[in-house]
Amino acid sequence: MDLHSPTDDPHGEIRDSVRRLCAGFPGEYWRKLDQERGYPTEFVRALTEAGYLGALIPEEFGGAGLNLSAAAAILETVQAEGCNGAACHAQMYIMGTILRHGSPAQKKAYLPKIATGALRLQAFGVTEPTSGTDTTSLRTFARREGDKYIVNGQKVWTSRAEHSDLMLLLARTTPKEQTTKRTEGLSTFIVDMKQALGNGLTIRPIRTMMNHNSCEVFFDNMEVPAENLVGVEGRGFRYILDGMNAERLLIASECIGDAKWFIAKATEYARNRQVFGRPIGQNQGVQFPIARAYAQMRAAELLVREGVRKFDAGETCGPEANMAKMLAAEASWAAGEACIQTHGGFGFAEEYDIERKFRETRLYQVAPISTNLILSYVAEHVLGLPRSY
Ligand SMILES: Cc1cc2nc3c(=O)[nH]c(=O)nc-3n(C[C@H](O)[C@H](O)[C@H](O)COP(=O)(O)OP(=O)(O)OC[C@H]3O[C@@H](n4cnc5c(N)ncnc54)[C@H](O)[C@@H]3O)c2cc1C
Repeated sequence: MDLHSPTDDPHGEIRDSVRRLCAGFPGEYWRKLDQERGYPTEFVRALTEAGYLGALIPEEFGGAGLNLSAAAAILETVQAEGCNGAACHAQMYIMGTILRHGSPAQKKAYLPKIATGALRLQAFGVTEPTSGTDTTSLRTFARREGDKYIVNGQKVWTSRAEHSDLMLLLARTTPKEQTTKRTEGLSTFIVDMKQALGNGLTIRPIRTMMNHNSCEVFFDNMEVPAENLVGVEGRGFRYILDGMNAERLLIASECIGDAKWFIAKATEYARNRQVFGRPIGQNQGVQFPIARAYAQMRAAELLVREGVRKFDAGETCGPEANMAKMLAAEASWAAGEACIQTHGGFGFAEEYDIERKFRETRLYQVAPISTNLILSYVAEHVLGLPRSY
């Protein structure tokens, strides 16, 4: 049984080499990090050196110049092999804002170094404690003073903040009350975190149910050179939105990978575990949840592929990207549930890695966007129903 390579898959070679790389990072590697809440430095270095994290950076800037379909195959395989791309997946896609909207000087300064891993751009500062999903109500403010901006405010859930050199920051540059549209007056900045740390920037890790290196980040008169503004002041929300489809499709691919890992693990165990003198997988009560999760995963996978195809063709893919993310996150959860149930008590033992993956995959029904907000998007933008918020 090969859950990883459907016959129409154009990325067989990439998947094979990602699999070989992942074989060097077995369950015990992740288990130890999980216990210590450590960062998988060696894994991130290996992915970087293999060129995978620079997959989407064009060759002229030192990247692999691959399309989203290839990037999706890389991240899906990482998860399907039991590893966790959450430690670094953002390095693949945050740079898209610089690529699409940055100045020639910014692209030249940052993209080649992001491609080699000399600079980590893995922190994405959008969510704030008070505004939450209501992004345009965020309060972090960047005030222009001569050739710099002075930033004050706070972010929450800024993942990998302690392990990133750069942060892409979304802040208000015009108070909401002074704008005609709430999406205006927000700007995007490249923050040199290493330079800012201790100079107006404070980072505080949040301990979570899984090892995700997520943090609270505080800005107290943090200075950002004006040349680090991306694109035009006040248009930052649009730039962030532009990158969201890629992010959602890549996270959806990770969920497909998780689902495949759970299904493969559950199937193998159901085939081999003997209770009452026969394999537990002979019981329909054990088979059916795994079969259902498989069907859910395949359906979600088809939508992920359709979204990725449209993205790579330059077509509108908002509905597919959103629905794919929702369905893939639900499929991975269903597969996790079937897997833990199939393993009985052993599903809860750390050494089986199931409980760890179970905790890790749950996140994707909440971040980077929660299921309710996806349903609201579909209701409003696909079905034409009134906006609910
Ligand atoms: C581990 C982790 C890592 C993260 N990493 C990052 C990161 O790197 N960068 C970053 O910027 N953010 C990050 N996030 C934040 C994440 O994107 C948000 O948690 C998520 O978008 C939900 O926002 P919130 O937590 O403020 O929930 P809230 O906005 O407070 O929502 C709470 C609940 O209410 C529901 N809800 C809210 N409004 C509505 C509505 N109008 N209709 C129906 N339901 C509604 C939501 O669906 C949700 O279930 C991360 C979060 C976590 C937990």
